[in-house]
Amino acid sequence: MTQEKTSDAPAIVWFRRDLRLADNPALMAAVETERPLVLLYIDETDLERPYGAAKKVWLHHSLNSLSKSIHDKGGKLLLREGPAEAVLDDVIKQSGAEAVFWNRRYEADGIERDSNIKASLQDRDIEVETFNGSLLTEPWEVETQAGGYYKVFTPYWRAASQVIGPRMAANPPLKAPNELIPFQKNLKEDELDLLPKSLDWDEKVMTDWSPGENGARDRLNSFLKGPIKEYTDARNIPSNETGTSRLSPHLAAGEISPKQIWQAARDGKHDADKFLSEIGWREFSYVLLYHNPKLAEKNYKADFDNFEWRTDKKSFEAWTKGQTGYPFVDAGMRELWQTGWMHNRVRMVVASFLIKHLLIDWRDGEAWFWDTLLEADPAANSASWQWVAGSGADAAPYFRIFNPFGQGEKFDEDGDYVRKFVPELKDIPNKYIQTPWKAPKEILKKAGVTLGETYPEPLVEHTHARERALSRYKESRGE
Ligand code: FAD
Repeated sequence: MTQEKTSDAPAIVWFRRDLRLADNPALMAAVETERPLVLLYIDETDLERPYGAAKKVWLHHSLNSLSKSIHDKGGKLLLREGPAEAVLDDVIKQSGAEAVFWNRRYEADGIERDSNIKASLQDRDIEVETFNGSLLTEPWEVETQAGGYYKVFTPYWRAASQVIGPRMAANPPLKAPNELIPFQKNLKEDELDLLPKSLDWDEKVMTDWSPGENGARDRLNSFLKGPIKEYTDARNIPSNETGTSRLSPHLAAGEISPKQIWQAARDGKHDADKFLSEIGWREFSYVLLYHNPKLAEKNYKADFDNFEWRTDKKSFEAWTKGQTGYPFVDAGMRELWQTGWMHNRVRMVVASFLIKHLLIDWRDGEAWFWDTLLEADPAANSASWQWVAGSGADAAPYFRIFNPFGQGEKFDEDGDYVRKFVPELKDIPNKYIQTPWKAPKEILKKAGVTLGETYPEPLVEHTHARERALSRYKESRGE
């Protein structure tokens, strides 16, 4: 991996979704050249799918943290804005850089732009080296015996684990460099405009999080110290704030790598298989995205193309605002808005509700999550929405329709989650907390709830909606 130093011309490290110093192969390879470093982040203005508002807020804070860590090692983070290729060209022109290093990305637009940039740089004799900095295996690497990629998770993960285990033993995660030699000349910088203009939403959301490499490491360590022991059961209880790791926004920004997580979890004394298999779902989502570049736009299973979705702006808006009249669904949607994150169990229920109870296209839900999730991820978001819709690879079958109050009764038995995010229902007894429309009038009155005024009536009746969804599905298949 060590480069031969040919001159004192600098090397550029182009940070993208790898906002960390430790286990960053592109950064380490650049350090090993012993050239002075231009450490660059570009807010790319020509992305086919620009980042959503929530993710930009996270990036703002994550970049501040990265900048500080780089500064502590003697370097400097250069922030620029514009189309990636033009910015890189300009930085190369100003600095005289002779080498560029980056960690790969896997969505079609990213692959295409990176390949074009690489070809154009190499044409000009600028050295380019790219690395895998965000996955345990490359998405094309683990193949079935017949050749081709796995379309079912369990055999995929079994095969992938056999590759990952020995590889991790031979190539453990890289340490952060001790020192970063900065390029001395001043280069043009931009002020990035990542925070929302009018809302104070970002301040409230960020109170729960600590973006950056240190925040990611602290979260992993505290999860591995205790909560991982209970993970298998606790991961389904949305009111349990330590039931899952909440590492997703850190992983999405690349403040921690899956290799670091794998190693730390395996080094612990507890059984980490279930937790690591969730990291496996992240890997599998990237396999699906890599082989199906339009995963966020096109049904993976083409027989869903005939499905007739409803256009219903009012219901969609009620869903986004957590005003569907189903407390468990509403709590989830409000958790998303208030914190930029939602518990996985509830994500499945809210997504199923939108797709099956309201018959609204999964792509509309995917886009809402893309805008509001701090961790919106091109692979995990589209693969998961298609999984719930039934149109994806290894998906839940369409006829698996989550019961929006039954799920609450099972996984939020005491209503703690609903009470936290739907406080207008807080005085409703447990028996009716998931089904306020079933509560006798005097109970509602005592709890200060007037359905249709202080809290909505259900947007659709469950049994009717379920049957409507099933018959729409049959129609789409010509049955
Ligand atoms: P943990 O349970 O602690 O899991 C550890 C890590 O494993 C996560 O941080 C995540 O990186 C990965 N992971 C866990 N579950 C999944 C999964 N089902 N698919 C892929 N990776 C997984 N995850 C995202 O990272 N970004 C998204 O944009 C996203 N959108 C989703 C949309 C829907 C409709 C659904 C049902 C799920 C979505 N997920 C997404 C997957 C999952 O809900 C989150 O990764 C998880 O809730 C994050 O919380 P955690 O870090 O506490 O997870």
